[in-house]
Amino acid sequence: MSGKDVKEILEKGLFRGEIKFDEPMAAHTSLKIGGPVEIMVFPEDPVSLKNVLLAAGKEKIPVFIIGAGTNLLAGDRKIKGIAISLKAFGNIELTRETNDKNVGLFVEAGAPLGNLLNFAKKEGYSGIEAFAGIPGFFGGAVSMNAGSFGAEIKDVLVSVAVMNMDGEIIILERDKLRFSYRSSNLPDDLIILSANIVLRKDSPEDVTKRIKKFLRKKRLTQPLGEPSAGCVFKNPVGIDSYREGDAAGRLIDAAGCKGMRVGDVEVSTVHANYFINKGRAACKDFIRLMNAVKAKVKRYCGVTLEPEIRIIGKN
Ligand SMILES: Cc1cc2nc3c(=O)[nH]c(=O)nc-3n(C[C@H](O)[C@H](O)[C@H](O)COP(=O)(O)OP(=O)(O)OC[C@H]3O[C@@H](n4cnc5c(N)ncnc54)[C@H](O)[C@@H]3O)c2cc1C
Repeated sequence: MSGKDVKEILEKGLFRGEIKFDEPMAAHTSLKIGGPVEIMVFPEDPVSLKNVLLAAGKEKIPVFIIGAGTNLLAGDRKIKGIAISLKAFGNIELTRETNDKNVGLFVEAGAPLGNLLNFAKKEGYSGIEAFAGIPGFFGGAVSMNAGSFGAEIKDVLVSVAVMNMDGEIIILERDKLRFSYRSSNLPDDLIILSANIVLRKDSPEDVTKRIKKFLRKKRLTQPLGEPSAGCVFKNPVGIDSYREGDAAGRLIDAAGCKGMRVGDVEVSTVHANYFINKGRAACKDFIRLMNAVKAKVKRYCGVTLEPEIRIIGKN
């Protein structure tokens, strides 16, 4: 089955949105690493998304979801299958759960987390200030249970709307979902469409002050201006950290890995749990550096680091 066949199938059915062939993943990841993916689609509505899934299922073509690619390491070689981007699903609206104290928000998966922060800042809604500076889309943040400074997305969730591979939409209430550090029990074959969240009513001035405070802290400790995928490794279980990636970063630093380099990938000298693309980095070099750092940390303190970044394709 070729990309053209898929295009034909999609055009015969209802598909609104863009379809790209051999699209470089490097253009869709914050690391700027990744070879071409066979097909990339940008459905503009749930019916179009459903038709992609049905066409792919029928032809047994693998599909995977990409958010803003800020936690993704994509392989250097051609990646088989269909990458689905929900960037057209970007609405943020008030829900009926809003009352004197709380505000309910419906947030679609493709809404950049920064847009949600700006909305909350303008209206004076509190509860997500600590996420300031986390890039990516809301769907990616739910999938990763993103967080910072002790706060996590799970803390504000009420329910999540997902689509399964048959195109059925299912609403999952918060008590049916289990979240842990940078992960959830949501299976990989469920696509997050949107979620309802609840925030507290506050004043725009106070919310803005707290957002600024968290952003300042983040800018001081993390290399936000260079191409990275955020924290490469999860904090080891049992080691507490108030700050994202802090404990893993401290171990990597103490093991003497800051500044280590393979090809154009370097362990950041600002925050050791960030690996930076210094130019024309390749996935295979990134993975070599991950293995070298992991081995050094293991030798240094016996801890086995687990990756936080998600890896797609082969290097
Ligand atoms: C400079 C920088 C700073 C960062 N700081 C932090 C931080 O402080 N805290 C933190 O937690 N993270 C941080 N990150 C990591 C990253 O920004 C978050 O994990 C973010 O939530 C990922 O969102 P994304 O849209 O980019 O997801 P992607 O990287 O595109 O995808 C991540 C995973 O989510 C899945 N996914 C994405 N969207 C959906 C969907 N709609 N349905 C189902 N699955 C989906 C993908 O398949 C993939 O497995 C940082 C990254 C960078 C580059």
